Amino acid sequence: MEEGSHRRPHAIMIPIPLQGHVIPTVHLAMKLASKGFTITFINTQFIHHNITKSKPNTTSQELNVDDEDIFAGARKSGLDIRYRTVGDGFPLAFDRLLNLDAYLEGTLHVFQAHVDELVGDIVREADNPPVSCLIADTFHTWPLAIANKYELLHVSFWTEPALVFSLYYHLDLLIRNGHFASRDNREDTIDYIPGVEAIEPKDLSSYLQETDVPKVMHRFLFKAFKGVKKADYVLINTVKELETPTISALQEKQPVYAIGPVHVLEKGLTTGIEVATSLKSESDCSQWLDNKPRGSVLYISFGSFSLASKHDVDEIAQGLLLSGVSFVWVLRPDTVSYVETYALPVGFEEEIKGRGLIVPWCRQIEVISHPAVGGFLTHCGWNSVLESMWCGVPMLCLPLLTDQPSNRKLVVDDWKVGLNLCDRKPLNRAEVKAKINSLMSGNSAEKLRKEMNKIRQMVENAVGGDGESEKSLCEFVSQVKAKIN
Ligand code: UDP
Repeated sequence: MEEGSHRRPHAIMIPIPLQGHVIPTVHLAMKLASKGFTITFINTQFIHHNITKSKPNTTSQELNVDDEDIFAGARKSGLDIRYRTVGDGFPLAFDRLLNLDAYLEGTLHVFQAHVDELVGDIVREADNPPVSCLIADTFHTWPLAIANKYELLHVSFWTEPALVFSLYYHLDLLIRNGHFASRDNREDTIDYIPGVEAIEPKDLSSYLQETDVPKVMHRFLFKAFKGVKKADYVLINTVKELETPTISALQEKQPVYAIGPVHVLEKGLTTGIEVATSLKSESDCSQWLDNKPRGSVLYISFGSFSLASKHDVDEIAQGLLLSGVSFVWVLRPDTVSYVETYALPVGFEEEIKGRGLIVPWCRQIEVISHPAVGGFLTHCGWNSVLESMWCGVPMLCLPLLTDQPSNRKLVVDDWKVGLNLCDRKPLNRAEVKAKINSLMSGNSAEKLRKEMNKIRQMVENAVGGDGESEKSLCEFVSQVKAKIN
């Protein structure tokens, strides 16, 4: 007991071991710690190994993985964030993306057992303060069982928009109406999901549309969303004003808090705290960008694991040549396949010298917040969408899989801060050129920027002192404090 007789909340936090989930969960940990939580953050050994290996000035040989602690800087600044790692049941060298089905299948059993054991150890060891909550990514299948076993509050953290949460939450309705993994190319509008006025089948998450999704993925979804319905609290990395009807409908079911975007830390409080979250080494683009005029550069990235087709990469490269626009293109070595590398058109790199920069990975938030960047060709990963809106950069949308089709609908159809790059399939260079030019200059660009300014302001207001996201987070914190004292 401390602070009079008030117990500090102590949360164990566990992200899904993928880049797009680790980043927001680390940021949420920092936010909660800055509001008086003690956090014990758990990464898988695989994620931990990649983060520490990719930090500047370290090599995997030099590194003693077990000695590294990604939150050491946060602790020095007064935040009580402790750090542990857990095995996911596979050796470090096992290629998890290449063998995704086997990996997911394995994590359903072995990972759960390892987490259970570690959570048990932490609960037994920690008495200052004792552990009171489990904050786990909604996609995990085991939080309900583990929270119940150790008598912890079960907090589910959703790193995608409320729209996508709501669609998975109402899987039963999609199944009853024949829209789940439908084999007959349904085109009729879905208008029966509470809080979702209307959505076309093509805009559902790919896991809901496709019939050839690995069966284990559907088992994950069913189990995860059965569990989340019993969570004490759900935190969503979105802004209420952007998705009001959807969030209000969810709030009728259980305590749901829209607290995004979480990557924004309170001004002053955590400034200067460096927590490594990147799984890959980041190329520095700042000097290159410094020499470009304001708003002139297109940034291109398909996120951390989605695969584009060889055809798309080729047409984008040709479209870039035709457009005359300057660009930074994140081309991961595994952009088109986890086994083969991409091939750019012959002479491409020579032709774009000075105008284009190709990097395998960068610090995205730094690149898109640079004044030279005026547009973002994106796969519509939710972190990328939030970061783009935070920086006021309009988007050109090429969704590839998972939640990305639904995110595209929000960006282009609802909020009008982006254009489609998938109107005509297959993608062709003339469309790429035309859309890049419409995004970067002329009347359509002007219109997009105007809308984006409104959204950027809305997002900024949400995380300010009186903003909806900030108020929701504070409300969640006081609910937890009241419950454990
Ligand atoms: N990211 C980055 N450097 C890159 C590409 C991406 O730091 O070169 C970050 C990006 O800022 C975002 C995350 O990786 O926070 C990707 O998440 P997102 O939801 O956009 O896509 P995912 O990788 O989950 O498909």
